[in-house]
Amino acid sequence: MSKVIVIGGGAAGMMAAIFAARAGHQTIIFEKSEKLGKKVYITGKGRCNLTNACDLEELFRNVVTNSRFMYSAFYGFSNEETIAFFQSLGLQTKVERGQRVFPVSDHSSDVIKVLEQELRRRRVEIHLNTPVRELLTQDGRFAGVVLQNGSKVFADAGIVATGGLSYPTTGSTGDGHRFAKALGHTVTPCHPALVAVQLKSEYPKQLEGLALKNIEVSVTVDEVLEQEPTETLEPADKNGKAKRTKSKKRKLGAELYRDFGEMVFTAKGVSGPVVLSASSYMAPELKDYRFRLHIDLKPALSEEQLDARILRDFDEARNKQYKNALEHLLPQKLIRVIIELSGISPDKQVNAISREERKALVKLLKDLSFEVSGLGDYTEAIITKGGVQVKEINPSTMESKLVPGVYFAGEVLDVDALTGGFNLQVAWSSGWLAAQSIS
Ligand SMILES: Cc1cc2nc3c(=O)[nH]c(=O)nc-3n(C[C@H](O)[C@H](O)[C@H](O)COP(=O)(O)OP(=O)(O)OC[C@H]3O[C@@H](n4cnc5c(N)ncnc54)[C@H](O)[C@@H]3O)c2cc1C
Repeated sequence: MSKVIVIGGGAAGMMAAIFAARAGHQTIIFEKSEKLGKKVYITGKGRCNLTNACDLEELFRNVVTNSRFMYSAFYGFSNEETIAFFQSLGLQTKVERGQRVFPVSDHSSDVIKVLEQELRRRRVEIHLNTPVRELLTQDGRFAGVVLQNGSKVFADAGIVATGGLSYPTTGSTGDGHRFAKALGHTVTPCHPALVAVQLKSEYPKQLEGLALKNIEVSVTVDEVLEQEPTETLEPADKNGKAKRTKSKKRKLGAELYRDFGEMVFTAKGVSGPVVLSASSYMAPELKDYRFRLHIDLKPALSEEQLDARILRDFDEARNKQYKNALEHLLPQKLIRVIIELSGISPDKQVNAISREERKALVKLLKDLSFEVSGLGDYTEAIITKGGVQVKEINPSTMESKLVPGVYFAGEVLDVDALTGGFNLQVAWSSGWLAAQSIS
């Protein structure tokens, strides 16, 4: 039996502590907040999308950064195991659209409750309001921690599960990055990701709150700012491969991202599932490029089909004014903006609209585009992109290759995934693997 200190009582930390205790280790959690799982509480809009019921291939495909590093963790403790684990703790789960898994109760507090019950059942010592200040080493291996109040606690192994930098009010303020650096680890550049996209335009403000379903969003390079970008991310192909390429220069107009789904206009730009995913690909490259975001409002129709559809609509409304002829095509709120952008007078009689004007309208509906001015910050980012360099961590154990006895789990690592329950799965799987690997 070893003595194990878990630093951080979030998703990864609670999971790690449960499995360390189940393995028979004397386990202690130091959590700096007044309660466990503060971030888990706000996940999934308070419902906690705790994992995704997809197959393993899909699981890897949804990890944007360093998916291969998660090989042992996902194979050892997969999404199926996550569901079975929570059910064994008495939490009933359900699967919703996009294979997203939620508690039947729709309350994230129930996820935290069953984890806390299990921690207490396994006699894990939980110290709340107890920030860890630094890690102690002796002869090059983990020896213990120094708490904020200066007291030292010694142990055989330490699991750093302090999260990233996003939503700092939940306790994730980058302490783990600091610990890692002090041990000699590299921390890759961090960026807010899965975050709203800000646009250089007045139109989003006018459209604020308008949600669009079944649209296609793409992102292209609008301007190359630097000659030698250091790192680029490619959306995964069908096999989940080739997601990261180095020093590849993108050309003007090159496409960075494209997907189909839902989005919503905000006061400063756009958000919603497809946009959040797009932000994850833009985040590390904003210093190298200016991007343009394109919305195809009618992705199911080709330009020709859309033109034919508009012709039909215009034929039926031939004696109406243009401003009254788009209601079958677009949501009310969007009509005003599209009319303005199309440059056709709103009072023009529909039968007076020229072929060229109609073609321009088709182009606009297929490509409503705005210049990207930036991304939201950590206060609103779902995830931190970047973290402890995974090359310096043993992927089969989550143990530091530099300082034996120190393990890392969850968002503190340079691993991030898309929305859909994948980031919590990274936390559960890596927390499990770290605990499992302590001998
Ligand atoms: C609004 C929002 C919604 C989300 N929704 C989902 C979702 O539905 N599904 C999904 O899969 N993912 C979701 N995520 C992402 C997911 O919540 C995180 O990826 C996950 O919580 C990371 O777990 P973690 O344990 O690594 O870090 P955290 O959950 O951030 O936990 C880290 C813990 O460490 C503690 N800590 C930090 N420093 C110290 C220290 N020095 N000493 C002691 N304790 C310390 C913190 O207080 C915190 O409790 C969401 C994120 C946000 C912000």
